Amino acid sequence: MSQPLPMNPMPIIEKLCTLRRDLVSNGYDQALLYLQEQFRTAVADELPFDIWTIPSGREVWDWRVPQQWELKRGQVWGVKQHDRGESKHILIDSRKNHGLSVASYSSPVSTTLPTTQFIENHLHTSEACPDAIPFHYHYYDSGWSFCCEERRRAEFEAYERVEIEIDSTLSMGELKVGQVVIPGRSEAEILVIAHLCHPYQAEDNATGCAALIELARAVAQWPEAKRHYTMRFLWSPETIGMIAYLSRHPHVVANARMGICPDMLGLQQNMVAVRSRGGNALIDRAIDTLFSFVGDYGEGVLNDEKVLNAPGVEIPCVAVNRALWWGRGEHPYPEYHTSADSADRVHEGAMYQSIEALLKLIETLHRNWVPVPVHPGLLHLSKHGVWTDEAENSSLFRAKLDLIEHVNGRLSVIDLAHRQPYMGMTEAFAFFQQLADSGGVHARPYRP
Ligand SMILES: [Zn+2]
Repeated sequence: MSQPLPMNPMPIIEKLCTLRRDLVSNGYDQALLYLQEQFRTAVADELPFDIWTIPSGREVWDWRVPQQWELKRGQVWGVKQHDRGESKHILIDSRKNHGLSVASYSSPVSTTLPTTQFIENHLHTSEACPDAIPFHYHYYDSGWSFCCEERRRAEFEAYERVEIEIDSTLSMGELKVGQVVIPGRSEAEILVIAHLCHPYQAEDNATGCAALIELARAVAQWPEAKRHYTMRFLWSPETIGMIAYLSRHPHVVANARMGICPDMLGLQQNMVAVRSRGGNALIDRAIDTLFSFVGDYGEGVLNDEKVLNAPGVEIPCVAVNRALWWGRGEHPYPEYHTSADSADRVHEGAMYQSIEALLKLIETLHRNWVPVPVHPGLLHLSKHGVWTDEAENSSLFRAKLDLIEHVNGRLSVIDLAHRQPYMGMTEAFAFFQQLADSGGVHARPYRP
């Protein structure tokens, strides 16, 4: 049996934060199986959560599917000389320190280095979040490095040299993408994507992954008549996952009309929406009208919308998150890409609001329709019960006039609502619904 709305996203976020979710890794696979189980529990068995796989080494457009990376242990010892010889102290041990202490995809290494060289080339700290361990990776450069709190740098400097041991393996594995496809009346698709990689981190993007479970569950409960588009929900390793998936699913590229990338949804910051690369698609007009803070492509954090908006793919894809404007020079949030991006900081109320806003966006896209004029000439608003006296509310009068002056049988309600800033999306839909109910316009389904 399905659960009532809304499902609590917090336990999912907490569980995902316990896992070392590297691009292709056991931890990532566990996370995907866990989400599959959550979805099955929430939606019963009628709708499958499939796991699509592609082997390491396969070429996918300009990229190659990475190998599976597993870390057994990473250690750093400080060594110093004194009168009675040498002493050695452990400085980092991935089994005792936070898992982010060893950068993801670090190659195996066993070596000794002067401390200065180690600090300069192989140790990362975060200035933005000095008490946390930053998240670094060597996905495509075959390097290795360690990460620690900014304040611990001085500890390392007390030693002349460091001994380093990283016991990690790179082997042939399988990149995996989770997918839930909910058929609609049309083959035209909306893709909703969250990246499941990023070991141990919460906002980026366990929050998006948890939100997708709830969004998919909510849409699955809609009556069939309400589902206009086919919805495709995808959980994937960031960038490479979507490149691999879309390169092997040309029909998805052909059918997808738009994409949404939810991310960083539990922060106590404004909810923002970022337009697609072209900035002029239906979904851009929808977010312009629905969200208070909207930026252009490149002004926010960039996730898989890079892949969807890219040349040759051209699926207009927006981002919805609570990050600050990175593209305008603001750090997304202080804990971004660090060990401090933990589940206990995720704000439950913000999560619910974010899920609600995303669901409203998806619902708006599904309920869109095209008002078609019945008669030539100006609509008689008082006859249809939607007239506003200009003397009482000039802005609303002019907004309504603008809307009816552009009813031409081609523009949809979303397009029309976007024309004027005074009436919100809900009011615009209600206005045209009233006109349709009273015979002022014909309601034609929107054909994506
Ligand atoms: Zn990230």
